[in-house]
Amino acid sequence: GIDLDRVAGLIRSVPDYPTPGVLFRDITPVLADGEAFAVVATELAALAGEADLVVGVEARGFLLGGAVALVAGVGTVPVRKAGKLPVVAATRTYDLEYGTATLELAADTVAPGTRVYVVDDVLATGGTAAAACALLTDVGAEVVGFGALLELPALGGRSKLGDVRVDALLNG
Ligand code: 5GP
Repeated sequence: GIDLDRVAGLIRSVPDYPTPGVLFRDITPVLADGEAFAVVATELAALAGEADLVVGVEARGFLLGGAVALVAGVGTVPVRKAGKLPVVAATRTYDLEYGTATLELAADTVAPGTRVYVVDDVLATGGTAAAACALLTDVGAEVVGFGALLELPALGGRSKLGDVRVDALLNG
């Protein structure tokens, strides 16, 4: 057996990545550990509750979202960075510290009224999660929650998500 304390111990903190002054949390070792990966997927699937669909945010959210969907017994749809999808239903651009980023949702993947649980690896400033959730409401879906493996509460990302319930398995 393995618990979330052991999962936390697998997360590696990398100073000054991707830019000086940032402490990057590398969750790759969690995914590489079969037991840890299963614990994380099972816990997030429980939090997904009655969702009809799990959406994963590019790129590590794809790995987590696929696993969460399989455990929850529902399908999964990716939210992608701009320019990767042939036919787009919705686009959202948000501010980064320097510049902007754009996320897209493919056409004909999420029907209006679908109850969606959105998954990513890390909730930092919240811009990515907020944009992903906005894409889903743009197409008439209902976001039942956002779940991350790790939240960095000092960055205040939760406040960008408005009424969306935010779940984090770990805080750091
Ligand atoms: P935010 O938009 O909340 O500032 O950043 C969240 C997005 O950037 C997520 O898609 C996440 O994968 C990535 N991200 C930001 N900071 C980190 C970090 O320290 N570790 C990891 N693994 N991803 C991060």
